[in-house]
Amino acid sequence: MTVADPHATRSAMRLDVVSIFPDYLAPLDLSLIGKAREDGLLDVRVHDLRDFTHDRHRTVDDTPYGGGAGMVMKPQPWSEALDHVLALDNPSGDKPHLIVPGPGGQPFTQALARQLALEPWLAFACGRYEGIDERVYDHAREDLGLEVSVVSLGDYVLNGGEVAVLAMVEAIGRLVPGVIGNAESLVEESHEDGLLEYPIYTKPSSWNGREVPPVLLSGNHGTIAAWRHEQRLARTAARRPDLLHASHAGPHGGDLEIAAATPGDVPELAVLRRACAAKEVVATGALDTPALRETLDDVRAGLETGQTWVARIAGRLVGTVRTTRTSGTSGTSGTSRTGDSWVAERLCVAPDLQGGDVGPRLLEHAESTAPDGIRTLVLRATAPDADELKRYRKAGYRLVDAPSDVPGTVTLARRRR
Ligand code: SAM
Repeated sequence: MTVADPHATRSAMRLDVVSIFPDYLAPLDLSLIGKAREDGLLDVRVHDLRDFTHDRHRTVDDTPYGGGAGMVMKPQPWSEALDHVLALDNPSGDKPHLIVPGPGGQPFTQALARQLALEPWLAFACGRYEGIDERVYDHAREDLGLEVSVVSLGDYVLNGGEVAVLAMVEAIGRLVPGVIGNAESLVEESHEDGLLEYPIYTKPSSWNGREVPPVLLSGNHGTIAAWRHEQRLARTAARRPDLLHASHAGPHGGDLEIAAATPGDVPELAVLRRACAAKEVVATGALDTPALRETLDDVRAGLETGQTWVARIAGRLVGTVRTTRTSGTSGTSGTSRTGDSWVAERLCVAPDLQGGDVGPRLLEHAESTAPDGIRTLVLRATAPDADELKRYRKAGYRLVDAPSDVPGTVTLARRRR
């Protein structure tokens, strides 16, 4: 998607809508969008697709090839309508981004609305019946050079694209600078940062025996902000748990589920390992860090060694560790006198959750899986920083004074309690 420079001085954003029911778009004259048109911030033009037909009945549809129910919109009126839109008041030959509403398209989200609000020109093609002949999309892309996006309002089927266009133009239009008087009100809205909005109240403070939450009357902005954030989390968890990302909930906010890694975890595991490897590169300056070059096959093959564990919060992979059993070797010489050791290695936590309880809980889990008879627990840590070393000390681990047998790692050990 081409994104215009948001800092450039902009003229009105142009929006062309082609439909067989132009009257359906009349609400675009009303309210804030209507005002934005009057103020010259939005330049909305609605076109009747039937103006580009040449028969007495102004026919825009025909039966589908291959059979099946319903009618399909013919390519010819669409091609002429697009030519008309492109030629209209466009001496410099600019090209709009063509949005075709459709239930099979990418979901229309606040993030997409934000992206589209940066574009200077959008054209909307409202389908009806079973939709538009597929060749129209190809023609628009390949012959007219337009960027074409099929965008869905949601997982349900409407009778036509007009309602979807009304919704999209409203959501996009209100993000165009100047359309909403108080731009700050856009910042805290639902979906702006992936959470739903907190509950809102106005005067009177007591109504029909119902009180406004006292915290909102306290005048303490810090407490109010904290309360609102809590409410946003609680509301999102109750109504839209799919939106509640682990990073919103914070290190203590969701249930951590630890399970044995399966081949299905490999792609996410590879991404997580890269994130940890990048941290290692920054810490050590060693660009040849092997973990940085690990392929999916390497990660998959790694599952054959010992036992890899993965930790998830709300479905998101947030950490991993591998456990293996070793007999005393040079790298763990400080522990070899005590017989076999249980090694936790490749402990890796998602960058936004490092320093929380994911790492300690993964380590605890790794320790808890040590078989009977193991007396020494070993931790191979990669480029640990001072804080990490402090945490490992707190967990009872001490640095082993022999060089580690895995390059770039340090070995720590503790007696099993
Ligand atoms: N046969 C199509 C399908 O199964 O994908 C549905 C056609 S629908 C009856 C007619 C038109 O309504 C579509 O071409 C599209 O323009 C619009 N439409 C229907 N549902 C939509 C949705 N969820 N989002 C955006 N547009 C939709």
